[in-house]
Amino acid sequence: MRIILLGAPGAGKGTQAEILSQHYCIPAVSTGNLIREAVRAQTPLGLRVQAVIERGELVSDETVIQILTERLTKPDCEGGFILDGFPRTVPQAQALELISDVDCVLSIEVSDERIIKRMGGRRSCPKCGATYHVDYKPSAGGENCQHCGEFLVVRNDDKPEVVLHRLETYHAQTEPLKVFYEKTGKLLCVEGQEEVKDTTALVLEALASL
Ligand SMILES: [Zn+2]
Repeated sequence: MRIILLGAPGAGKGTQAEILSQHYCIPAVSTGNLIREAVRAQTPLGLRVQAVIERGELVSDETVIQILTERLTKPDCEGGFILDGFPRTVPQAQALELISDVDCVLSIEVSDERIIKRMGGRRSCPKCGATYHVDYKPSAGGENCQHCGEFLVVRNDDKPEVVLHRLETYHAQTEPLKVFYEKTGKLLCVEGQEEVKDTTALVLEALASL
């Protein structure tokens, strides 16, 4: 099963990707995480994208496709994968078609208003990369990471001014993707719910209908 997850930043894509990954035993591939790993490792590529991310802008298609091609050709992707964070634009979707087929494009729909409310509660571990939410996915370690004990922070990406900029970018660039995938007959839309498990139930039901 090769799945693309669509949805605005903060719509709960990452969380659903992790759940689907366990359910179908296929890796969840987050381009955001791949990029953050490169930044953390301070590779030449990582240094280049760091400045772009800090401005709240998107990393170039060429760079993301380069990183993604490497990832999707690893053996654990043979049985499928869940793509989270890519493609965001129609040109990226066209570039992806040259790398791999997909079976389904799942869009998780949440209003901007609810997203801005939710993002304020997100916390991230600067040491191991684990992500939490004060309401929906709290760390067992409270203010600290339950895996490594590091003090949790609000990522630059989750700050209100950056969130607003990302939502504008999302609507301008990513919404046309739905039109693109609708034409292929692979688009499934699910209404994001307050409870993670309720969204998961709708997602699994939609995927079972394929
Ligand atoms: Zn940690």
